[in-house]
Amino acid sequence: MNAPLRLYNSLTRSIEDFRPIDPAEVRIYTCGPTVYNYQHIGNMRAFLFADTLGRVMRWKGYGLRHIINITDVGHLTSDADAGDDKMEKAARAQQKSIWDVAAHYTAAFKHDVERLNITPPAKWTVATDYVPQMIAFAETIADKHCYRLDSGLYFDVSTVPDYGRLARAATDAGESRIDPIDGKRNPQDFAIWRSSPPGEQRQMEWDSPWGRGAPGWHLECSVMSLAELGHPFDVHTGGIDHREIHHPNEIAQNQARCACTDAEPGFTGAKLWMHNNFLVDRGGKMSKSAGEFLRLQTLVDRGIHPLSYRLMCLSAHYRSELEFTWESVIAAQTRLKRLVQAVEKLRAAPDKPSRGTADRYSEAFDAAISDDLNTPRALPVLDELLADKALSPADRLTMAAAFDRVLGLELAAITRADLRLRPADAGIDEAAIEAKLAERREARAAKDFARSDALRDELAAAGVEVMDGDPLGWDWRL
Ligand code: AMP
Ligand code: ZN
Repeated sequence: MNAPLRLYNSLTRSIEDFRPIDPAEVRIYTCGPTVYNYQHIGNMRAFLFADTLGRVMRWKGYGLRHIINITDVGHLTSDADAGDDKMEKAARAQQKSIWDVAAHYTAAFKHDVERLNITPPAKWTVATDYVPQMIAFAETIADKHCYRLDSGLYFDVSTVPDYGRLARAATDAGESRIDPIDGKRNPQDFAIWRSSPPGEQRQMEWDSPWGRGAPGWHLECSVMSLAELGHPFDVHTGGIDHREIHHPNEIAQNQARCACTDAEPGFTGAKLWMHNNFLVDRGGKMSKSAGEFLRLQTLVDRGIHPLSYRLMCLSAHYRSELEFTWESVIAAQTRLKRLVQAVEKLRAAPDKPSRGTADRYSEAFDAAISDDLNTPRALPVLDELLADKALSPADRLTMAAAFDRVLGLELAAITRADLRLRPADAGIDEAAIEAKLAERREARAAKDFARSDALRDELAAAGVEVMDGDPLGWDWRL
């Protein structure tokens, strides 16, 4: 593909040409979910973004090794070392073992990943599988970069150059969120090993040179990315909240371990740090601590297909805030239905030769996604391609399928019927609706309009709206 791939690097706050370290295998690390609760649809936006990045790499002809981790230990209720371990807290509240909690929410997350057609990574790295490597990593940096407090082993951020470059800590308000802990040398210092409090047994704890305890959350990602990808790798992704604390702390650890700051100024462990912006709702950023939050299942229960949410995310640039409203996700579902209908029609159409080629569409599509993953600009190219009558149905379908390998909308696999608004609490099932509609078609064919209207009213009473002559071909909706 022709256009150079250009991506926004949060480190430099600018768009840069992407040059893979090894084109045969672009290496991407994505901070994964903390599995103490369900993921909300805002979290899923982060994984949709990372998936789009991986799909664009493949479109560009690169090989890919993508790693996403599962955080099942170490993430505290505050990102900056204060509060409880989120996992321990959830297990206590639910009176379950921490392992059961992790297994349950990991399975729920993977189910959402599948429903959103997010490509599974080369490996899901589970934090608790890497504790020996975390201890070994910490040992290599402890003498020069860390100090001990009663509560654990702390990283001294003044021992690495340029701490907080990613966060722009001097100008951002972010650091003020850091909670004070007695004895810290610098407010931004963070625990890389958290000692278990005397007399208290945690469900998850390991022996270490710094006593029994658990790894710090930031250490986990440094270790798993190093173990699975090596440093430096190509791209590290996460939500924009990670730009302030989690990723600067990962960078500090990576610099300390590499000890290569003179030879390699600017070493951070990854060449590019990319962050998706938030999904917000009228109340602000969607977050789990806010209590009620929207899960993918909530959308499905309201008759929204998961891929409609995927399309809604693709319709906005990943660096823009995206506001969730029911109207916007329903509009995305209608847009998806139009695409699916166009593909269905082309499949049924008799073939004929193309006049001219489809090259300008692939060029326009390529230019859009190469421009920092500009999917909102790529989507109309697909619309125009599908509608171009100068091109044969077969040529249009072939190119649409290629575009869909980037978009992941499964345009060839889903049907319009899959996209009906069909809330889970509807009082009538599909077979009954179809039977009544068949009866109604017969009545209309026999010009028995009274019977036809009566059937329509019966359906309406059950919450089914019959849509005669709907250009989108929706026979009914609930
Ligand atoms: P967590 O399970 O809290 O560690 O979050 C998983 C991912 O979702 C991280 O990359 C977060 O940065 C990201 N994230 C959290 N909230 C939102 C949101 N409202 N919109 C988009 N991404 C988010
Ligand atoms: Zn991480």
